[in-house]
Amino acid sequence: MWNYSFVLPNFIALSTFLVFYFTRPRLPIKLNKSFLKILFIEMAVLTIDVASSAALESGKSIPHVFLRIINVLFFALFIMRAAMFFMFTLDIMKIRNGMKAAHQLALLGIAIVCEAIALANMFFDTIFSISETGAYAKCFLYNAIYVCSFFYIFASIAALFANRSRVPDGFFLNSCAFNIVLLIGTLMRIVFPKFLIMDSFCLLSIVIICLSFENSAIYVEPRSGLFNKKALRDILSELSGKRCRLILGFVLNNYGELREIYSGTQMDRGIALIGQFLAKSYPSLISFYLLNGRFAIIGKKEADAGRLMEEIGERFKKPWNAGAEVDISVDITFVQVKPEMRIDCPEKITNGLFAAMNSVRTIGSGNVVVDEESIARIDSSTEIKRAVVHAVESNAVELFLQPLFGTRTGKIEGAEALARIRAADGSLISPTAFIPIAEKNGRITMLGEQMFEKTCAFIRNHDIAAMGISWINVNLSPIQFLRRDLNERFSAILEKYGVEAKLIHLEITEESMIDYALLQKQIQLMRNTGFQFVLDDYGSGYSNVTRLRKCPFVNVKLDMELVRDYYASRDDTIPTFVQMFKKMNFSVTAEGIENEEMARALTEIGCDYLQGFHFSAPIPAEEFAARYTPER
Ligand code: C2E
Ligand code: MG
Ligand code: MG
Repeated sequence: MWNYSFVLPNFIALSTFLVFYFTRPRLPIKLNKSFLKILFIEMAVLTIDVASSAALESGKSIPHVFLRIINVLFFALFIMRAAMFFMFTLDIMKIRNGMKAAHQLALLGIAIVCEAIALANMFFDTIFSISETGAYAKCFLYNAIYVCSFFYIFASIAALFANRSRVPDGFFLNSCAFNIVLLIGTLMRIVFPKFLIMDSFCLLSIVIICLSFENSAIYVEPRSGLFNKKALRDILSELSGKRCRLILGFVLNNYGELREIYSGTQMDRGIALIGQFLAKSYPSLISFYLLNGRFAIIGKKEADAGRLMEEIGERFKKPWNAGAEVDISVDITFVQVKPEMRIDCPEKITNGLFAAMNSVRTIGSGNVVVDEESIARIDSSTEIKRAVVHAVESNAVELFLQPLFGTRTGKIEGAEALARIRAADGSLISPTAFIPIAEKNGRITMLGEQMFEKTCAFIRNHDIAAMGISWINVNLSPIQFLRRDLNERFSAILEKYGVEAKLIHLEITEESMIDYALLQKQIQLMRNTGFQFVLDDYGSGYSNVTRLRKCPFVNVKLDMELVRDYYASRDDTIPTFVQMFKKMNFSVTAEGIENEEMARALTEIGCDYLQGFHFSAPIPAEEFAARYTPER
């Protein structure tokens, strides 16, 4: 006698899952497709299990060949199910992405052999036999089905442990759990062969999968009902090595302002309406809402991007009715990934798309195309971002020094500290590339402090007076300069190294002069500690001479461009500036002196110090010390 008591609830639960699966938005990625296969196979196994057991019970009354077919079918599906759970486990780790078909087939080797054994049962008694009287018995290869089941369960668990880093965060235990439930189910089947209980365990595995991986919150953005950023990344990662048929983004122009003009609730309603429009108009394409007014559409097959842009653009000419007689009118800008581009590195495409969409928000003009060139640009900025974080966190910002020559003495009198960091391949990155990034990601304060500390260490460890140096200039970014605790922090470092403040001149730029009152307060406070201030890059910004007069600088550095202009045209504006600064009691430095003639020209108009490649490029601090320390 077979025991069917578990079957009905299993049917109900499985049917519910199927209904859920088809009524909720589902992302066409391998993982979801594998899950759907599991659902179908499980449904079939359940049906055939009941049918074959019932048929065997009816015994003689059923044609012999039918009994054989239905039992063969059952075992074939049973084996397939074990292999499908294994494939699903691999898909969690994205192991099958980009894998050759032959390799995928090889993974199914054991299942294929077992399927052959099961199908052979149509003609030979391999797994089971059915006598003329309808009596069912196991045969010598019956255990093949267990070998197959155990093989794939253990292979799944081994794969999970071996590729733990590829399992999405927080899903490792769940992934092991559903495989262990399968293992218990298989053991139960061996112990209680007459109970149709294994299906209950498979169902429990399905429940675990459903709650962990098929939870629509993972991939769906609730306001728009469209897929989210993670969905976009996951789907693109599966397109690796293929061409992007259609990747189109669009941005709601001035989204931040729109949220201010319309209330947040109305704007959210607007987003929902746009989401509905996209889902309804393009059911065969996949639409995403990437937050902050950014949408994307992906087509796995060929689609006419031009037509799409036209249609969507047309719809946006009309307002979106956000209820309570509120009409939201919004312009959009398209960002299209060049269709000929191959997706070699999906992450780069996603980053390219995001960077382009973000640039639209700042530029807000014309449609943008993401191509190899723009991706390479972002790539290098990503590398710089990484290098900044690494250098700052591992105290690896390097101190380079460039000498400042006195025009009266014709000798080195000071130096400027310039920061350098290294890319992963060891090459140097220019501060013009990494300083703006460090300012944006908040590392500039730590970076600047490291430079200050390394300069102090240099002063302590070397006899700078012997080099002829009276001070070293250290650059301060406006963000760092305006910090209230700057004086305290720098004073503590001076104390740590036993260095006098007067040996360090702090360079600030005109950008720091935006908050004039704060600037004066800060300078005054730090001058009490003994620091001196230098105005860097004079002439590169909006210089306000009246304000300058009231700032107690010791030195003003003429920007390189200004120096070049003077060298080329010799007009009298620069000499006038120099005279004016001298009247204000500032000494003057000319930057970017690249040859003898420039040095002479700027000395003649009264500059006190010269800095430039003509004397020396910035060099590593130790090399600087070796070069300028006189031999005893
Ligand atoms: P800056 O403070 O105006 O530094 C002078 C820059 O001019 C340096 O560029 C130097 O290498 C370059 N230079 C010197 N002589 C010549 C020359 O004859 N010809 C040419 N073409 N260039 C010359 P560098 O080292 O690339 O630094 C660029 C900028 O990055 C600096 O301009 C400064 O604003 C910033 N920076 C460098 N280190 C730091 C730092 O530690 N903190 C902060 N906040 N900014 C820094
Ligand atoms: Mg400087
Ligand atoms: Mg400068």
